[in-house]
Amino acid sequence: MENLLESARELDRQDDLREFRDAFWIPQQSAGGDQAYFCGHSLGLQPRTAESALETEMGRWRKLAVSGHFRGEPCWIDYGDDLAAMLAGLVGAEPGEVTVMNTLTVNLHLLMVSFYRPAGHRRKILIERGAFPSDRYAVESQIRFHGLDPAQCLVELEPGSGGRLHEEADIEAWLKAHGEEVALVLWPGVQYASGQAFDLRRIAVAGHAAGARVGFDLAHAAGNLPLQLHDSGCDFAAWCTYKYLNGGPGAVAASFVHARHAGDTSLPRFEGWWGNERSGRFRMDPHFTPAAGAEAWQLSNPPILAMAPLRASLALFREAGMERLRAKSLGMTQWLAGAIESRLGDVLEVLTPADPGRRGCQLSLRVRAGHERGRELYRWLGEHGVVSDWREPDILRVAPVPLYNRFEDCHEFLRQVGDWAAQAK
Ligand SMILES: *Cc1c(COP(=O)(O)O)cnc(C)c1O
Repeated sequence: MENLLESARELDRQDDLREFRDAFWIPQQSAGGDQAYFCGHSLGLQPRTAESALETEMGRWRKLAVSGHFRGEPCWIDYGDDLAAMLAGLVGAEPGEVTVMNTLTVNLHLLMVSFYRPAGHRRKILIERGAFPSDRYAVESQIRFHGLDPAQCLVELEPGSGGRLHEEADIEAWLKAHGEEVALVLWPGVQYASGQAFDLRRIAVAGHAAGARVGFDLAHAAGNLPLQLHDSGCDFAAWCTYKYLNGGPGAVAASFVHARHAGDTSLPRFEGWWGNERSGRFRMDPHFTPAAGAEAWQLSNPPILAMAPLRASLALFREAGMERLRAKSLGMTQWLAGAIESRLGDVLEVLTPADPGRRGCQLSLRVRAGHERGRELYRWLGEHGVVSDWREPDILRVAPVPLYNRFEDCHEFLRQVGDWAAQAK
């Protein structure tokens, strides 16, 4: 792998985003040296500016106390505005379509209260087989909340032809045949286990043609792929900010509600004072007057301490630009996938689509020698400074993140897999 290392280093030298790595804390190996961190799909690294962003708010709390709500730049009552605007830019939403609130599963529930309205024969929710468990629990419990039976109302679409991937054409065909019973399609932007990215517009169009509402879970898509959420036409979306968006463990999440629903008074909604139209929030009016856009779904005043690190991270995204990040990501993931296939093809199978247009940065890998050996490789990597993750029964996930990973990290992964395979023979 000598010349591979040389080529990795050369690619790092040519990388015009390479300095962004220095804006993050890179976890260290116990023996010293940077870990090769491939878990940005699970918890993004800490921006070095996150601590001072948090300290700024701690200081304002210390010195200003209650007047921090109205003093400082930005003051706490407006603290979410910049975040929402930056996130809207990242996902291709209009201002007013995005709000920052709660956590992902909470937001899915709040949005389903409005957009899952089973009636007559139209009662089903369509998700993908193998969905992230929290999403599955959320839709099942929503179905039960309406007095319905998940065994009849939850449809988990099987991947086509016995594989692990879903073809958009299969989703369209299924909706054409069975769509009149579907109330809601809830689909991932990028599937967490396979790493497959979807054509969101095609899914939204197919769902709407069938008469259903369409929502997207963008947990693995936001900050990973450039998105055109508004143009996709979906009704709603939600995503967390601690994965590719580096907002910190359990950081506050985001919600999107399409502009065409702004001001729609026929939508039922769970409401709280922060969803009030702004000038009314402090009037303590017993009557709720909803804010115009996604903000109407806000319940509570914003968790400033959970937002400060996200603010630091989004500033880096703004500086780097999603288009440049995607360009680097395409190159780096392609390089890693190519090297896995050409050098480690007898050890690993790449499950993620080979077409770069159908994936983000993550590669989901299967160890050909089986589950037991797969778990062994996962442990080996961890002991040798390469941080990946393991998803039962047999998936090893690695995500080279363009903001802070290097081609040299990818090389280290290849080297360690090669060493493991050699000693395991
Ligand atoms: C990460 C992730 C979650 C996590 O939900 P939280 O409410 O943030 O704990 C949910 N769904 C998907 C698809 C995810 O990838």
